[in-house]
Amino acid sequence: MTLDTSACAAVSEARLQQRHDRLAAIGATPRGGVNRLALTDTDANAQAMLVDWALQRGFRCSRDEIGNLYIRREGTQSGLDPVFMGSHLDTQPTGGRFDGAYGVLAGFEVLEALADLDRPTRRPVEVVAWTNEEGSRFQPGCMGSAAFTGVFPLERMLAAKDRDGITAGEALAAIGRAMPLPARPMASVRPAAYLEAHIEQGPRLEAAGATIGVVSGIQGIRRLAVSVHGEEAHAGTTPRAVRRDAVSAAVAAIAALEALLHDTDDVVRFTVGRMEVAPNSPNTVPSRVDFSIDLRHPDADTLRTLGDRIEAVACEAARSRRCTAAVTQVSHVQPTVFDDATVALVREATRLLGFPSLEMPSGAGHDAMYLSRICPTAMVFVPCLGGVSHNEAESATASDLAAGTRVLAAALVALADA
Ligand SMILES: [Zn+2]
Repeated sequence: MTLDTSACAAVSEARLQQRHDRLAAIGATPRGGVNRLALTDTDANAQAMLVDWALQRGFRCSRDEIGNLYIRREGTQSGLDPVFMGSHLDTQPTGGRFDGAYGVLAGFEVLEALADLDRPTRRPVEVVAWTNEEGSRFQPGCMGSAAFTGVFPLERMLAAKDRDGITAGEALAAIGRAMPLPARPMASVRPAAYLEAHIEQGPRLEAAGATIGVVSGIQGIRRLAVSVHGEEAHAGTTPRAVRRDAVSAAVAAIAALEALLHDTDDVVRFTVGRMEVAPNSPNTVPSRVDFSIDLRHPDADTLRTLGDRIEAVACEAARSRRCTAAVTQVSHVQPTVFDDATVALVREATRLLGFPSLEMPSGAGHDAMYLSRICPTAMVFVPCLGGVSHNEAESATASDLAAGTRVLAAALVALADA
């Protein structure tokens, strides 16, 4: 494989760093993080800054029906399908400076590097800021990429309400009035390929001393809801032998599930993140516990097999405490496997540029998950300090961010000239 790495040298670490600093000032929190919820004025201000930079470079900007923002540099054959790069500008309420922002700014830096070199590409190249990836203000997350790829209907996304009862559609209309942009229907453009750069949001790259994560795909997720039923009784008078304590049963069930899902290579991800106790009174033996299960694995068969064993194990553990359990599946999202040839481009670019790397699946969900359903897709990871993310302390070094952008540039040029 021969890759043109000339654009990589034109990637400016200083410019990329400066763009991150300026973007992070929009929605900056006192503790050094960012609060930029989707489709708020703050989100709109971040978009406006990016649009301003784009127009200064002569790139064209447009927006679609769900608010996805497109920045386009023409190709020599502009009738061809464009190659997309991107990620998201929205954050968690106590989010960091890099989750999402990096993928957008890395893509923009590649456009600028190509423009600096006057390097034409055969296909048009577009940077996309996908709407509401985080799913903090409006659910579901990855709203922009889900609508764009047809995974969920646009109407359902637009009708999603925030806690104040404002719909995504109403919030979008307000942004459209405050910052009008040319409208481009999402159905009018299909990408030839998609690349997304992102911080790893986990500790593996740092631990391995690797600069680049060559991402093989995104692990699948099963979400389940467990209801444990016992019987209310007086905390002071009820002997152990006749108690039907739902908390005791839930604890036994979770311990049994942890044992079931324990793997020596530490690939399975099992989380009980929410628990509700009824009647939730200190001196009443609890009659009911509802808890959530989030189970993730990169292998579809393993995810199915393990997930299918949860019900029997939870019910047996509940029975051992004279309670009953009911398990229902909330969702089952299959693992994503990225396109071999596109992942190979990222691997080869990394090798040519001499960066130490690690092949890995993504633990977190990303817009790339949905894009991979409609076009060849790959991701580039860079380390984040301590693996910390969804946290105001999120941090990544300027040189790692630039390294990931150089890998992105080499892979992008190959795709855009194809
Ligand atoms: Zn993200």
